[in-house]
Amino acid sequence: MVSNNIKSFIRDLPKVELHLHLEGAIPLNTLLQLIEKYMGKKHITLNELEQKFTYTNFDNFIDTWYWKNSFIREYDDYQFIAEQVALNLAEQNIRYAEIYFSPSDFTKIDSQPQEIATSIRKGLNKHSDRITINLIADLVRDSEPKLPLLNKISEVRDQGIIGIGLGGDELQFPPKLFTEVFRKAKKMGFYITCHAGEAAGPDYIWQAIRDLKVDRIGHGTSAIKDKKLVKYLLEHKIPIEMCPISNVRTSAVTSLDEHPIYNFYKSGMLVSINTDDPKMFNTTMEKEYISLIEIFDLNLFDIYNLAQNSIESAWCPTNTKKELNSELAKYYKRLVN
Ligand SMILES: [Zn+2]
Repeated sequence: MVSNNIKSFIRDLPKVELHLHLEGAIPLNTLLQLIEKYMGKKHITLNELEQKFTYTNFDNFIDTWYWKNSFIREYDDYQFIAEQVALNLAEQNIRYAEIYFSPSDFTKIDSQPQEIATSIRKGLNKHSDRITINLIADLVRDSEPKLPLLNKISEVRDQGIIGIGLGGDELQFPPKLFTEVFRKAKKMGFYITCHAGEAAGPDYIWQAIRDLKVDRIGHGTSAIKDKKLVKYLLEHKIPIEMCPISNVRTSAVTSLDEHPIYNFYKSGMLVSINTDDPKMFNTTMEKEYISLIEIFDLNLFDIYNLAQNSIESAWCPTNTKKELNSELAKYYKRLVN
């Protein structure tokens, strides 16, 4: 059982999150307001909404994902969700975040990626005094052609878009299919990350490294099956954005006990802790850390190390990293000494 002291240590820890999807982080109250905007007050209650976010299987999760997105229709809605997500993160003392957004989930309803990004930035700016947020545009494997989308995104990179990512249906769409678009993204100066080794095996992680030349890997759980790959990730210090509770919820791993994060961390790999789709998976950064303490008996120094890993893996400027590290070090020393 984790003590209240440790819980408050984690709650007040200055945190960094690097793998978080905007559309999976919408507070349920915010979503309820959007549903009421389009469907009227009596469509669903908060309780029923909570129930709906408990899934019976992966298909049910995907259906719920698209159902939820169907209530994000106007540019004002993006601004509203971004503002509420930023507030929610700031309230958890997340000091810096890199957030994925998936414009192609919405372009079917005629929203333009440039306008989506601008609206999201307007919303995030409402809380820029409490939290710094950069954006990663997720090209989503199983959607529209990628090059035109990348070009549109590059027009609005001044909205704080620092990276290009690749989520979506991993098994059907291996990383190597996207070599050309990622080569172009890199040339444009974007950082690159790719969801790899979540649903698929270690060969997809190799492809993300060799074909897409990624700067970070999203999930990377199946790397544990390939000793050479683990050695490579370790030697090249390739950061892995790990999302333990998400991996259990989607059955990428059978249970947290089986999750490779402890093994990776102990071997010295640059792993960070993240929530992926926190409001869809009923998780928070606090819950992630506490679950790892419960299962792997991590101590406060381990938590401090993992929090440092997140800063090291981030794509913010060096002076921002210095500030984040110094705030974290002060906090740790004040509480532990
Ligand atoms: Zn993800």
